[in-house]
Amino acid sequence: MQPAVATGAACTSALAARGMRVEAWQVPDRRCPVTTPVRPVSGSTLSPPPGTACGMLLAWSDFEREIDKLARDIAGAGLRATHSRGSYACRAMTGNAGRRSLHASGLALDIGGFTLDDGTIVSVAQDWGRRDAKGRLLRAIARAGCRRFSAVLTPATDRFHHDHLHFDLGPWKICDA
Ligand SMILES: [Zn+2]
Repeated sequence: MQPAVATGAACTSALAARGMRVEAWQVPDRRCPVTTPVRPVSGSTLSPPPGTACGMLLAWSDFEREIDKLARDIAGAGLRATHSRGSYACRAMTGNAGRRSLHASGLALDIGGFTLDDGTIVSVAQDWGRRDAKGRLLRAIARAGCRRFSAVLTPATDRFHHDHLHFDLGPWKICDA
């Protein structure tokens, strides 16, 4: 089932209620419109702050709290920063030219890794598939993401995802965790 995606003022005020300040951004390509395009200004761990559809940022802001808890439980330190690899891109899906990517509507987010409160860096490219705490944390984050997002793509998916996790709110349910 496709998750409900918040839009407009209902979405931006929900972000404000979570302590996140956002600004609007100008969608550069008319062929790929975005519903309620926003970018975090403060109150988000995403770095650099990506321009997304508001609904994606709202879903992500709730997920950040779960990641923080998983990081404390598995790696002994909370979440300081999420290494964002960007959201919006007016293009087709990788490996499937016939379908438009969820990135084209700002409803997808690519994540390269995380920095924890103790300075530990958890990298998808280096730590995915390992049996240590970093590897287990990445796996737990991907699994948890499958309960919140439509698609979670990982290095287990294909070569296009060897160095990042992809989360989206599209119509297709995929869980490669
Ligand atoms: Zn992606």
